[in-house]
Amino acid sequence: MEHLGIFGGSFDPVHLGHLLVAQAAQEELSLSRLFLIPAAQSPFKPERQPTPAKDRLGLLRLALAGKEWCEIDEQEVKRGGVSYTIDTVRDYTRRFPQAELFYLIGADHVPELPKWRQAEELARLVEFVVIPRPGQASLPFPAPFRGRTLAGFPLGVSSSQVRERVKGGLPIDHLVPATVAEAIRNNRLYL
Ligand code: ATP
Repeated sequence: MEHLGIFGGSFDPVHLGHLLVAQAAQEELSLSRLFLIPAAQSPFKPERQPTPAKDRLGLLRLALAGKEWCEIDEQEVKRGGVSYTIDTVRDYTRRFPQAELFYLIGADHVPELPKWRQAEELARLVEFVVIPRPGQASLPFPAPFRGRTLAGFPLGVSSSQVRERVKGGLPIDHLVPATVAEAIRNNRLYL
């Protein structure tokens, strides 16, 4: 059975933590394809207006250049409004009825899973895969969710940290790919 990974998030901006999640998942789950899906508006961050999608998508394209197994899916951005995982996952079950679907999340999301929209259905449709995140205890999956935790490459980088560093005039060179750091500078993002 084909293994497909789904990785949603704000990617505002994409950073090396995200890329190491992708790499760990590909290796440990033998994924043939991984779909990265930037949210239009995250339900978890209602107070924050995300950077325009075209900028976030541009950085993601730079970060994933040459990684043939990684694909950017623009469906949430195109739908607009608040992006709910269940809507995206339903689309994947329709498009890939024969595949096994793995939904990647950072350890910070595990305790909140029962609050996700249509939680019961979501738990039936995908297996959740947790990537350890430094500073986040690894907790068991709350029922009815099932999933596993990867060994991964735990890295304590976050998008908010990258944004704060840019604002504060600090370097981000080793937190995001060099091409992404350059594009952030050239496009005067996150100032
Ligand atoms: P912010 O700092 O703005 O909250 P973020 O760095 O958490 O952003 P998102 O794009 O919101 O980035 O994250 C998308 C997904 O990637 C989430 O499931 C999140 O838990 C996970 N993730 C982000 N960074 C890491 C990391 N360093 N290690 C493991 N998982 C991560």
